[in-house]
Amino acid sequence: MLNVVLFGPPGAGKGTQSANIIAKYKLVHLSTGDMLRAERASGSELGARVQHIMDTGQLVSDEIVIELIRVRLVGNPGVMGFIFDGFPRTVAQARALDTLLKEQGTGIAAMVSLVVPEDELVMRLIKRGIETGRTDDNEETIRKRITVYTNETLPVADYYSAQAKLSAIPGVGTVENIFAQISSVLDGVA
Ligand code: AMP
Repeated sequence: MLNVVLFGPPGAGKGTQSANIIAKYKLVHLSTGDMLRAERASGSELGARVQHIMDTGQLVSDEIVIELIRVRLVGNPGVMGFIFDGFPRTVAQARALDTLLKEQGTGIAAMVSLVVPEDELVMRLIKRGIETGRTDDNEETIRKRITVYTNETLPVADYYSAQAKLSAIPGVGTVENIFAQISSVLDGVA
């Protein structure tokens, strides 16, 4: 199996590059942000519980997102692999993911980290907020999400680096050029 963590701050281009990776490598896309937005849109009790947390740029609890991932790992037997987008965001989530994958007899092959300067991230997210109406893409929440990323999520890169699985790629330039660099990393582990 090819299990890949696509890592990077909000606005790094994880969603865009996930689409390319899925098409080329036939992986199942697991985005906890998309799952949580779907919960909200469906009007579920879970959706209502996470609404305020998401709209203020904080992290939803590890228990909630780990359970969302667990259900999908168990529910997709026999696939070519998974791409994890926006997960894990804490070291506790990374440890839980390792345990869940081990139970399925597999593990993470690579973490691809997209590196983008903060000013560029803010610009991209403000633009996305205007275009899509995403409620957490306003300047105050964007700054908060970047701070949360720096404090709580960046240590996840060290976790995979210690396992020699981290590849950092500049997340600026054309979508095609960034994807070519991601492909060369994945071709090396596939
Ligand atoms: P995203 O679409 O990945 O930027 O996620 C949007 C929001 O969903 C984040 O700002 C968090 O509030 C929440 N979220 C998504 N994934 C996670 C995660 N792995 N851990 C905690 N909160 C998450």
